[in-house]
Amino acid sequence: MVRTQSAAQRSRSAVASKITKACTWRIGRTSYRPRGLANGGASCYRNAALQNLLHLPKFVYWIMQHNEPRRNWPCATAPTDPNQAPPLKWADEPAIEKLGADGVGCVPCLLKGFIVDYWGPTLINATNDHPTRFLFDHPCWLHLHTLSDRWFYRDPLDLEETLNKKENINKTEEEKEVVVLEEREKNMSRQHDADEFMRYVLDGIEYTYAHADANGDPTKRKKQYDSLFTRTVQETMTCPACGHVRTIGHETPELGVRIEPLTGRAHDDVASAINRSMTEIIDTPCPQCSNPTIPANKKTGAKEIEDPRAFVRRIRVVAAPEYLRIHVNVEAYNASGQPYKNRKTLAIPEILDITQHMTYSDDPNPLPVCYKLRHVLYHQGDLLRNGHYAAAVTEMPPPRGRWAHSNKFFCNDSVISDFTNELMPTKRNVSNILTANPVNLSAGLNVENDYDPSIIWYERMPTRELPVYKGEEVVAGLAEGRVPRKGRGKRGEEYRAEVS
Ligand SMILES: [Zn+2]
Ligand SMILES: [Zn+2]
Repeated sequence: MVRTQSAAQRSRSAVASKITKACTWRIGRTSYRPRGLANGGASCYRNAALQNLLHLPKFVYWIMQHNEPRRNWPCATAPTDPNQAPPLKWADEPAIEKLGADGVGCVPCLLKGFIVDYWGPTLINATNDHPTRFLFDHPCWLHLHTLSDRWFYRDPLDLEETLNKKENINKTEEEKEVVVLEEREKNMSRQHDADEFMRYVLDGIEYTYAHADANGDPTKRKKQYDSLFTRTVQETMTCPACGHVRTIGHETPELGVRIEPLTGRAHDDVASAINRSMTEIIDTPCPQCSNPTIPANKKTGAKEIEDPRAFVRRIRVVAAPEYLRIHVNVEAYNASGQPYKNRKTLAIPEILDITQHMTYSDDPNPLPVCYKLRHVLYHQGDLLRNGHYAAAVTEMPPPRGRWAHSNKFFCNDSVISDFTNELMPTKRNVSNILTANPVNLSAGLNVENDYDPSIIWYERMPTRELPVYKGEEVVAGLAEGRVPRKGRGKRGEEYRAEVS
C-alpha cells in the first residue's frame, strides 16, 4: 500500500536528496575524526556550534557549492548581504574601523574555506592519523572570527549596571559615551549564546541569494536551505462549542522547533515537549458562537467582559526538514520573577517520530516522518550568560554510506574524545550515548560539571528504515486534558488582534 505524504513534503525531501550528488568536493583526509578547535578566550560557544554544523553532511556538501562553476550561487553585495559592509549603526566607531577588511565578509565563502581545511589533509598527526587542532589565529577561520566579533559589537546586557557603577555615575555625558564605546568593544570577545551565533551564521548564508523569483516562487537556493533546516507550519484554532476553525499565520517558516522543559519533578521528554509546543488551549471569544459580552454585574461589582471560549490551538507541520534543530529553552523564572537555568532532566529519544504533527497525518496510511539523533550542543554551568559550551557529534559518513559511520565524539574546544558508554559509568547500557542527559565526564558525579543539552540535532530517517506509525498521541492528550492552557492574558489579546 502506498503511504501518503503532502506535496510540499515530497518536494522538500526530493530537493534534500540531490544535494550531496551535486557536490564534487569530498573530505580530503583518511580519518573522519573531528578536529579540535582552540578557544580564543571565551569562544567555546562558536566552537561547539561550528562542530555541530560541520558534521551535518548535506549542509557541508551544500556550502561547498557556493561560488562553484555552473552552480549560480555567487557572493552578494551590501545592502543585500549586510555582512559585506560595516554595520550601518556603528560604521564610524573606532572598534569597527579597527576590524578593517576582515570585519566584512561573505559567510558561505568563509565557511567554505574553513570546511576545506577542517576536513583537509593539513595538520595531521603522523603517528595516529588524527587531525590536530586549529589554533585561534589559524588563517582558515580567523576572518570568520573577526566577522563574528563584529556581530557581537553592541551594547552588552549589563550596560545600564556598568554606567550606574560608582566610578561612572558622576561622569559627564561625553565621558559616559567613552565608557559605552569601550563596553561595546569588550562585548565582542565575551562569552555569548551558541544558539545566537548559529543563527548569525545561518542568516549570513540566507543573505547571499534571492528567496523568491519574479513570480514569488522560492528560488532553487532557498528551496535547498529550507530542505535542510526549515519547518513550515500552519496554525489552526478550533472552537470546541461550534467547531468553527480559523487558520492563522498560514505556512510560517521556522528554524526547527523551540521547546520548554517542564519545571519541577514530573517526567519530561523531547517528544512530550514538542507536543506541548504544538497544542494549547486559549480562552478567547469565538466570532461564531460567543455572546459578544458578559454584562457587568452591579451586585458582585464585576465589569463587562468578553465571553471567551476555550479554543484549541494546534500547529501542524506542512513540510519538515532534513535536519530538525531543537532548541531547548532552559530559561525559567522563579516565584519572584528572577530568571534561572532550568536544569530539569529531559529524556532524549534516539528516534523521534513527528508524523502525528504533519498536516496529512489524518490520512489512513501516512508516510512517517521520523528522525534519528545526530548531535547535541551542551551548556555547562548554572548561569545563563556565562558557563561553558561543548558539542557531541556523530561521525561524518562517507558520501555514499548514509548511516555507515556511527562513532560518537565529544568536542570540548581543543580536546576531542571518543564518546563511548565507558566514559559514563551510569550509561553503560544505553544504545546511543547521545541520549545521556546530563552528560558528566568526570569520575565523581558533580553537578557543577554537568553538561545540559541546549541544542539537539535530529536527522531525517530514510524511507527504508521507517518504523510503523503508531497513531496520534496529541489527540489522546487533548481528550485527557493534558494540554497546556493559556489564560485570558496577553496571549488571548494577541489572538483577538489577529482575527479582528
Ligand atoms: Zn561568497
Ligand atoms: Zn464557536
